[in-house]
Amino acid sequence: MNYQHYYINGNPVPLPIGKVVCVGRNYIEHIHELNQPVPEQPLLFMKPSTALVALTQPLQLPRHGQCCHHELEIAVLIESILHQSTPEQCQHSIIGYALALDLTLRDVQDRLKAKGHPWELAKSFDKACPISPFIPAGQISDPSLMEFKLTVNGRLRQHGNTQQMMTTIPLLLAYISNYFTLLPGDIVLTGTPAGVGELQSHDNLLLELDNRYQFSTTVS
Ligand code: ZN
Repeated sequence: MNYQHYYINGNPVPLPIGKVVCVGRNYIEHIHELNQPVPEQPLLFMKPSTALVALTQPLQLPRHGQCCHHELEIAVLIESILHQSTPEQCQHSIIGYALALDLTLRDVQDRLKAKGHPWELAKSFDKACPISPFIPAGQISDPSLMEFKLTVNGRLRQHGNTQQMMTTIPLLLAYISNYFTLLPGDIVLTGTPAGVGELQSHDNLLLELDNRYQFSTTVS
């Protein structure tokens, strides 16, 4: 495994590589597009550190499923220990923001869901979390108003804004910290807006944040 956290200026972030805690169904329109019930509490799952890979490398789709979906998400990088923390403590522990793809084998997930089984085979496999370099938190003027987009082969697929979240980022981190202590270097993925769809070999992806930061990649 050779993943390392980087800043957008190319400098490594001096933090260890840890777990990735993810939230499902945090944007109402995405819940409707998959015909899922609205959860009463944030729906949490995890990806291991081995899921992390630099987004700028060509994406490798897994072979144990047929339909690999992109879920574009805002990722936050944690700088200090969060355990039963307040939303304010959580906000201050964010050292940077990135764009990530929560790669999901939708056909595998549907089969697992139907049997009531856990989702790991669909979401937590090797390289299931391509992630961009991190934008230092100080460069984001208002994290509650971040706009982000995914364009595939020149067509807009996903377009979200953090103001559409059902649970805001500080509240989400505080909720997570009640059950899973967040350590320096851990990452939290904050949910996907509507527009998830299938990736194919040779797709060209453009990820944009706040019309200011752009990251591109391809599917190998
Ligand atoms: Zn997701």
